[in-house]
Amino acid sequence: MPGIQPRGGIHYPRSTGELHSWFASDTDCLDYLDWLRWPQGFVCPRCQNPGGWLVADGSYKCASCKTQTAVTAGTLFDRRRTPLTVWFSACWMFASQKDGVSALSLQRALEIGSYPTAWAMLHRLRAVLVRPDRDRLAGTVEVDETYFGGQEPGLRGGRQKGKKVLVGVAVERREPKGFGRCRMAILADGSADSLHPFVTANVEPGATVVTDGWSGYNGIDALGYIHQPHSQRAVAARGEDVGALLPGVHRVASLAKRWVLGTHQGSIGEPHLQSYLNEFVFRFNRRHSRSRGLLFYRVLELAVDHDPVRYRQLVAESRPKKVPPVPPPRRGRPPSLDRPHAGRPWRSA
Ligand SMILES: [Zn+2]
Repeated sequence: MPGIQPRGGIHYPRSTGELHSWFASDTDCLDYLDWLRWPQGFVCPRCQNPGGWLVADGSYKCASCKTQTAVTAGTLFDRRRTPLTVWFSACWMFASQKDGVSALSLQRALEIGSYPTAWAMLHRLRAVLVRPDRDRLAGTVEVDETYFGGQEPGLRGGRQKGKKVLVGVAVERREPKGFGRCRMAILADGSADSLHPFVTANVEPGATVVTDGWSGYNGIDALGYIHQPHSQRAVAARGEDVGALLPGVHRVASLAKRWVLGTHQGSIGEPHLQSYLNEFVFRFNRRHSRSRGLLFYRVLELAVDHDPVRYRQLVAESRPKKVPPVPPPRRGRPPSLDRPHAGRPWRSA
C-alpha cells in the first residue's frame, strides 16, 4: 500500500503465532487483502468509480455501474482452489524463511494435496517479484556472466548445448567495502548484442561499469556509462588473483548457485530459471531487512496488484515433475485453523 510506513504487529504479523491468530479464517484473509487492495475503500475496477457496498458473498457491488467484484478478482488469488489461510501460510514460509522454501517442504508443512499444487503456488508467488527493483543499479557496478547448471566453470564464446544456461550478473560495489543490490538475467549468448541490453536494462546511465576484458562489453561507454574494463591477462601477468577482479559478481553468482542446489536440490528447469533468479535477487536485495514479516507484507501487496497467473501459463514451457526431487528431511507442521480470532490489527491503525 503506497504512502504508509508498514509497522510490525499492526500492518503485518511479526511471528508465526501472530500470523495464525490474525488469519484464522478465509474471511480474515479476505479482509486483509481488501485493505491492501483498496486502502481508501473500494474503487470499481470496471468504471473506476469509488464507492460500493459489500454483498452477501463477500464481494463488492459498485455504487455506480452495479458490477460485482470479488476482493480477489483480477489478482494473483483469482479463482484459487486452495483456501486463503493455506495461501497465507505458504506466503509466510516463502517470505519468512531466510532461503525461502522448496515445493516439497511446502507441500509437507501445509499438507497440500499434490506436489504440482505446491509447485504452482510458489511459482505464482515468484511471479509477483518481477516488479519491485525497477530502479536500476547505480554508482560503481560490476558486470559479468556465468553459467548455471553445468558442473565445470563455463567458458565463454557462445552458449553451449546441453543444460548450461548463461546468466548475466550485475552487482553494486560499495565503498570502502561490501556490496549493494544485484540483478540477474538469462542471456542468449556472450555477444555485445546480448550484453549491451543487459547493461542498459539493469544499470543507470552515468554509472561506472566494471567488467573484465571481454570484447562483448566494448562500446558500452557510448551508451552513457563509464566503462572500466580489466584485462584478465594483465592481472594474471602481474601475479594477482584473477578471481578477485570482480568480487561482487563472483560472490553473488556463487551464493545463487548454492541456493539453487541447497533449497531446490538443483531441480530447476531452464524455462523457470529466470523466476528463481528473480526470487534470489528479491531476497538478496532485502538481506538487511530486519523484519521477515515485512517481506510477507510486500509479497501480498504485490500479489493483490498482480494479474492472475494461470496454471497453463506456468506449465506452458515446463511441467512440474510428478515425483519431486531428492527429499529433504521432514520439518514444519500444519497450521491449526481453529485458533481464537484476535481482532484485525490492520484495521485499527
Ligand atoms: Zn463500477
